[in-house]
Amino acid sequence: MNIVLLGPPGVGKGTQAQILAKKLGLKWISTGDILRKEVAEGTELGKKAEKYMKEGKLVPDDIIIEIIKKHLSSSGVIFDGFPRNLSQAKALEKIMDVDKVIFLNCPEEVVIFRLTNRRICVKCNRVYNLISNPPKNDEVCDVCGSKLVQREDDKPEVIRKRFRVYNEETKPLLSYYREKGILYEIDASGEVSEITKSILGVLNE
Ligand code: AMP
Repeated sequence: MNIVLLGPPGVGKGTQAQILAKKLGLKWISTGDILRKEVAEGTELGKKAEKYMKEGKLVPDDIIIEIIKKHLSSSGVIFDGFPRNLSQAKALEKIMDVDKVIFLNCPEEVVIFRLTNRRICVKCNRVYNLISNPPKNDEVCDVCGSKLVQREDDKPEVIRKRFRVYNEETKPLLSYYREKGILYEIDASGEVSEITKSILGVLNE
C-alpha cells in the first residue's frame, strides 16, 4: 500500500508517518527530513535546496523528484510532505500508484501553536512538542539522547510564508485527489493517538 499524508505545515504529518510506518511496515519518506539532512551535510543538493527552505518556499520539482527516485523501495511507502503541488503529483503517478491520500485537517491557529513549540532531534528526526509531547529531559531526545533544536523555518515570519505556499500550491491537490476518489479527511486537532486511530480506521476500510 502506498499512502500520501497531506495537510498544512505543523499538522502532524511527520509524527503520524513515523508511527504508521512502524505499525504497517511501510517505508517513511519525508522530503523535508531528507532535504534537512542534505543541507546539514553540505551536499550539492543541500546547497541548492537551502535558500528555498530558509524562505519557506518550495524547492524546485526536479530536485524533489530526484530525491524521490533515490529513496524508493519495493515495499509500500508513506509519503510525508510530498507531493506539494500538482506537477509533483503527476510525476508521482508515473512512478507508482497511490492507494490512499489522508488529508489531516486542523484550524490554522492550532497548527501555528504546534509549530512554535515544535522541537526536533538533530540526529533521529523524532518530533516533540514542548507543551503537548515534551521530552523526558529538557532539550534532549528520549530515544537517542541527541540535542533537540527548533527548525530554522519554524520562526514566525517563515511560518507565515509556508502557509501562503501551502494555500496556493498544495491545497489544489485536495480537489485533485478528491476527484480521483482516494482522498480521506481526518480531523487532526486532537491527541496524537486519537488521530492515529482515525487514520488506521480509514486505511483498514
Ligand atoms: P517539511 O519538513 O515537509 O515542512 O519541509 C520543509 C521545507 O522543505 C519546505 O518548506 C520546503 O522548502 C522543502 N520541501 C519539503 N518537501 C518538499 C516538496 N515535496 N517540494 C518542495 N519543497 C519541499
